[in-house]
Amino acid sequence: MRLKDKVAIITGGAQGIGFSIAALMAKEGAKIVISDVQEESVKKAAESLSKDFNVETLPLKGDVTQGADCDTMVKNTLDKFGRIDILVNNAGITKDNLVMRMSDDEWDKVIAVNLKGSFLCTRSVIRPMMKQRSGRIINICSIVGLMGNAGQANYSASKGGLIAMTKTCAREFASRNILVNAIAPGFIKTKMTEALSDEQKQKLASLIPLERLGEAEDVAKAALFLASEDSSYITGQVISVNGGMYM
Ligand code: NAP
Repeated sequence: MRLKDKVAIITGGAQGIGFSIAALMAKEGAKIVISDVQEESVKKAAESLSKDFNVETLPLKGDVTQGADCDTMVKNTLDKFGRIDILVNNAGITKDNLVMRMSDDEWDKVIAVNLKGSFLCTRSVIRPMMKQRSGRIINICSIVGLMGNAGQANYSASKGGLIAMTKTCAREFASRNILVNAIAPGFIKTKMTEALSDEQKQKLASLIPLERLGEAEDVAKAALFLASEDSSYITGQVISVNGGMYM
């Protein structure tokens, strides 16, 4: 088992990519903290992981845009497990619109969850990780943070900002053996991309050298690598999981 007894927090972990990461880490022996906004789905996700992989889990309802919730998430994790080895900043939202029509609210909400939320969780987790002199932080960014995408000024800015923050944190924390990396998924089949029509999905697939949208597990495998000993000399990097769509 590659993560035996490691403690991992996954924000937005009740479904989609976050849940897939949580499941793969649980399968590899990690104790899992699922943090997400809806109490019922958080509980359901944690229960199914405990049942399927026989690991300890902690379901926590929390909003990453609220600093107090992030501090509570860290406190509750330390109270139950005594340490934090891995933070996956995965919670994210979209509110797409063309720039000329984008409201202040659409801009602010996406930046608040995707960028500020990742900052707040990182800030909450960093003291215990520094005391331990070890840790892994994995930021789930996006292909559009690298290449841009019409209709996603807010989202692409949040993910581009998160890539820059990843590199800064990697430099700040390296001396304490805390490694910080990003994953930039392409288009992955989750609730977030469900809204796309079949025609849009086919058009997208035609732009992808591997000719298909990704699965959440494709992203989870990269996260497992970044959380494991196999990546112990890698920090400040962005791993693209996009089927070759952007090189
Ligand atoms: P998803 O299925 O919508 O999952 C995102 C989760 O984050 C949901 O459970 C959502 O809860 C939760 N969340 C939303 N706001 C939150 C907040 N303020 N605090 C805590 N949790 C919050 O999306 P996904 O596709 O798995 O995306 C996961 C990450 O991958 C995101 O950062 C996304 O930007 C990134 N990504 C996805 C794709 C893709 O193609 N799917 C591509 C590139 C990057 P509710 O839904 O209950 O509100």
